[in-house]
Amino acid sequence: MKLGSTVIKSVINLCKKVLGKTRKSQSKPPSFEQPNILSRDQHPVSRKHISHNALKVLYRLNKGGYDAYLVGGGVRDILLGLAPKDFDIATNATPEQIKALFRNCRLIGRRFRLAHIVFGREIIEVATFRGHHENSEEKNCQKTSKQSEHGMLLRDNIYGTIEEDAERRDFTINALYYSAKDFKVYDFANGVADVYAKQIRLIGDPETRYREDPVRMLRAIRFATKLDMNIHADTKAPIKSLAPLMANIPPARMFEEFLKLFMSGKAGENFQQLRDYNLFQFFFPAVEQQLNHQSHAYLADFIKLAMKNTDHRVNNDQRVTPAFLFAAMLWYPMQEHIQRLNSETQLTPQDAFFAALSEVMSEQQRSIAIPKRFQAVMKDIWILQDKLSRREGKRAFKALEHPKFRAGYDFLLLRAEIESASNQDNQQPTALQELAKWWSDFQHSNADTQQFMVKSIGQNRSGSRRTRKRRKPRTQSSGSEA
Ligand code: ATP
Ligand code: MG
Repeated sequence: MKLGSTVIKSVINLCKKVLGKTRKSQSKPPSFEQPNILSRDQHPVSRKHISHNALKVLYRLNKGGYDAYLVGGGVRDILLGLAPKDFDIATNATPEQIKALFRNCRLIGRRFRLAHIVFGREIIEVATFRGHHENSEEKNCQKTSKQSEHGMLLRDNIYGTIEEDAERRDFTINALYYSAKDFKVYDFANGVADVYAKQIRLIGDPETRYREDPVRMLRAIRFATKLDMNIHADTKAPIKSLAPLMANIPPARMFEEFLKLFMSGKAGENFQQLRDYNLFQFFFPAVEQQLNHQSHAYLADFIKLAMKNTDHRVNNDQRVTPAFLFAAMLWYPMQEHIQRLNSETQLTPQDAFFAALSEVMSEQQRSIAIPKRFQAVMKDIWILQDKLSRREGKRAFKALEHPKFRAGYDFLLLRAEIESASNQDNQQPTALQELAKWWSDFQHSNADTQQFMVKSIGQNRSGSRRTRKRRKPRTQSSGSEA
């Protein structure tokens, strides 16, 4: 009997322990009511790291009688010794109250209402503390809160306290608040420890948080590569199985995320990670399909090389346009379409190009809303691939004057580089490599040499026609079909 009750007791204790553990890991984050508070001498964040304009906003809100904190990347990056990309502020003032304080304020967003305080090129984003959706009297009010059948928050405009706001943030390292009033850092989710442990960890139950906003999956990857951190096992675990939720993200938001992932100097690493987590397909379904196809083995190398170039330019403060990367991504889907149209229809090469362009673009737009101005540059880059291959008479000089010559030429170099990598056994340069070399020389030559180079093309052509058999163009990398 005695033994029996002891056994029962220990079983009950064990159950309590297990239940307690699962409950903890399933939903409730650490206590948000009692944050760790780091005083001025316990953290490196100081006003000299914060932009003048962000400080102005903090002071004005405080003077207006509101609480205001620097939050998110602004605090996190300073702790890591990095310069923040931008400064985000959280406050208990409502968007309308913020607007009343700043003449240079624009209210934006429906899903997530925010105030932008505009100082020339710098925009300080000010968000009102978000509250919980459950238990809220406003839960059923469509104007403030709305959730899809998949659990996605379509609207998140319920306001709350700083503690609730911290709980609604994505990762522990982003729930850090700095006050310009008492110079303290308020750490609600043990984020400081995670910053130093280099750990990306979602606040709350990962599955619920991803369902609320699937973009958090992309953000986990982006912060991991940007900050050279690891994604915590619990945060990582559900990503692959929840990846299909990405299909519900509007194309305009996907464009924003594309820019953050691929135009910030870490495109190569992000590409790899997105593919590993089955997330890349939601950006470029046609490319994903080709990547999974044996006959397109060179494609990943082409994309990686384009990304390496972009990363190099970003990291050296050179100008970049997303159009170049989009053109590289969709180059082979374009070639495939053109070839199909050539074999199935009687269209002229030019008509086939434009028909393929319209098909590839409209398909791509369903995933990412590429603004028209970038679509125009992509088209120019592709058309230039054909123009650069026709150099006789005045054509080379005309191509040189094309406003997008530089992008088209860089793209040609990229194609030639990939071809040379796959042509390593052969000592002879390919036609594309010769073409790229010709353009490299041509643009840096004086007028006389340029005239001579153009004349020599015709001669070489007629000579080569007699002596050499024309090589059949390689299906994948022949590129002058535009
Ligand atoms: P960076 O600006 O360097 O990309 P960040 O952390 O500042 O990083 P932002 O996109 O500027 O990221 O967002 C500011 C803050 O807003 C984040 O730190 C986070 O606290 C919160 N946040 C942004 N997006 C989400 C989201 N999808 N879910 C929950 N919280 C978010
Ligand atoms: Mg930010």
